[in-house]
Amino acid sequence: MPDCIFCRIVEGEIPSRRIWEDDAAVAFLDVAPFKAGHTLVVPRQHVSDALEDADVLASIAPAIVAVGNLLRDKLDADGMNILSNVGEVAGQSVHHLHVHLVPRFADDAGMMALLTKDETIDADAVWEKLRPAQ
Ligand code: AMP
Ligand code: ZN
Repeated sequence: MPDCIFCRIVEGEIPSRRIWEDDAAVAFLDVAPFKAGHTLVVPRQHVSDALEDADVLASIAPAIVAVGNLLRDKLDADGMNILSNVGEVAGQSVHHLHVHLVPRFADDAGMMALLTKDETIDADAVWEKLRPAQ
């Protein structure tokens, strides 16, 4: 087992503001939230990211749905960003799979407003790499 901060949170060795748990997952408040109620859902089993093991990813789906609805109901959120970073280039800093639930409220612009579209992308070149073989 690697020395992993989220494994230690799951085991209770490091304190967290745990708001929900089941047999497969634990959910706790992010220590540096983007928005009020920003929560992380993590599997009890250590895998490094969302692409390592489909069964582990699937096992935390009920927790994501339960916690998302809990945040919506208790915080009156109007919507939510649900995302998981894979790899440092994508912003992953903790290498134990975690899904961010970021509640959104009607009076903010939303996370997509932070992103800009890249109009220089050659869509045909991308399509050539990704299209299923004939
Ligand atoms: P990422 O950058 O996608 O890997 O997200 C890691 C998240 O973990 C960040 O949003 C951090 O604020 C959060 N984080 C790091 N350490 C802790 C901790 N001890 N308790 C709660 N959240 C944490
Ligand atoms: Zn871990």
